[in-house]
Amino acid sequence: MDENPNIHDPAGLFALREGEEDRAYSTAPQKYAANRALHWPRGKVLGGSSSLNGMIYVRGHRTDYDNWAYLGNAGWDYESLLPYFKRSEDFDRGESRYHGQGDPLHVLSQFELHPVNKAIIAAAVEKGYPHRDDFNADADEIYGVGVCHLTIKDGKRHSTASASTSQSHSTYSCIGAATSVRWDALHWRGVHPGW
Ligand SMILES: Cc1cc2nc3c(=O)[nH]c(=O)nc-3n(C[C@H](O)[C@H](O)[C@H](O)COP(=O)(O)OP(=O)(O)OC[C@H]3O[C@@H](n4cnc5c(N)ncnc54)[C@H](O)[C@@H]3O)c2cc1C
Repeated sequence: MDENPNIHDPAGLFALREGEEDRAYSTAPQKYAANRALHWPRGKVLGGSSSLNGMIYVRGHRTDYDNWAYLGNAGWDYESLLPYFKRSEDFDRGESRYHGQGDPLHVLSQFELHPVNKAIIAAAVEKGYPHRDDFNADADEIYGVGVCHLTIKDGKRHSTASASTSQSHSTYSCIGAATSVRWDALHWRGVHPGW
């Protein structure tokens, strides 16, 4: 289960490193990283790695997806995937071309910034970097400086586990599963209403 309070308190993030909920993998020595073996955290808990992650919600650049389609994966281009991003999202500034609202995953964009963060952004803008208000919109212009959106709701981490259990639908029930169990296959029968 995800009972560790450090999972739910966004500031508890660093205490989770190599803890009970971290599979704490290590990579093979990396030639291009001075032959260091790197720590590779992965969630071993309800919500998986989304219960351990940095809560930064950035979808990536349009061309990342378009390149998948270009390589032969039909339907994986940015415009084809955008509706799925929107249909998973509960954006705090409402619905738009790039955002959805009312769906499971709460995405926070409006919060008080620390003065040091404000100063860093102001310094970068002064240096000529474009200020970006939303790295998940204007996908052609992701370059710049600004504040990332976060998967946080009411001051708490919104992991995939908390996102999926915060919506109650008659056809949607939480899977009863022990995280210590090894699954060979998972057959999904329920469908999220509206998907
Ligand atoms: C420390 C950290 C920080 C990160 N920061 C960010 C961030 O800020 N923003 C961002 O977008 N992404 C971030 N990521 C990455 C992001 O969290 C992952 O890409 C994402 O959660 C992967 O989702 P997933 O469903 O593919 O896998 P996971 O969320 O890892 O889920 C896989 C689940 O399967 C379980 N599992 C694995 N093998 C078995 C098995 N054989 N039998 C049964 N269960 C098994 C695992 O325990 C886990 O619960 C971060 C990840 C980590 C670890």
